[in-house]
Amino acid sequence: MPGILESNRPCAGKGLVIVNTGYGKGKTTAALGLLLRAWGQNMRVCVIQFIKENGSASGEVLAARQLGIEWHTLGDGFTWESQDLMRTEIRARDAWALAQTKITDSTYDLVVLDEFTYPLQFRWLDAKEVVAWLQENKAPLQHLIITGWGAPDELVQFADLVTEMQKVKHPFDQGIQAQPGIEF
Ligand code: ATP
Ligand code: MG
Repeated sequence: MPGILESNRPCAGKGLVIVNTGYGKGKTTAALGLLLRAWGQNMRVCVIQFIKENGSASGEVLAARQLGIEWHTLGDGFTWESQDLMRTEIRARDAWALAQTKITDSTYDLVVLDEFTYPLQFRWLDAKEVVAWLQENKAPLQHLIITGWGAPDELVQFADLVTEMQKVKHPFDQGIQAQPGIEF
């Protein structure tokens, strides 16, 4: 009788769909940790950032620039003003169009869609359609990492690896403000 380990033996070479979600800190930074790991293995990687939270370049963008890592930032700051929301929606759709060209391109080994859950939550993109598109079109060996809180069920079900960051404590709760090297 096959043991659990035997019956669950992984098949070689499957491009994983990875989701980092939850309210706690660490979704983007864990994705970038994997990106760096893959980059170190001479894999072709790229990042598409859907929502940029502050105007000045964050440490990871500056690092990527120095390392020559491909990085696209298509959000442009984010407020709840309706005009900004409309502009952000258009940019998010553009970012998805760009993401689609990377996800179908088998020369990319790992693609990060940072904060991609937001356009899904706001229904700028339909989660079911996105998942159906991925199912049909994703380069089979490519690893795809999606970050952001509130990942929709369709995506969670489709993904191979889902991690929910759970907040136990956060310095913001003590009134400690965002600090370079930690938050940006
Ligand atoms: P990181 O980029 O540090 O991995 P994240 O991707 O998990 O964080 P986001 O939802 O993208 O988190 O939030 C971005 C910023 O908000 C980060 O600077 C992070 O420290 C902060 N943050 C994350 N979780 C919380 C929380 N529960 N309370 C307050 N601030 C938070
Ligand atoms: Mg993040």
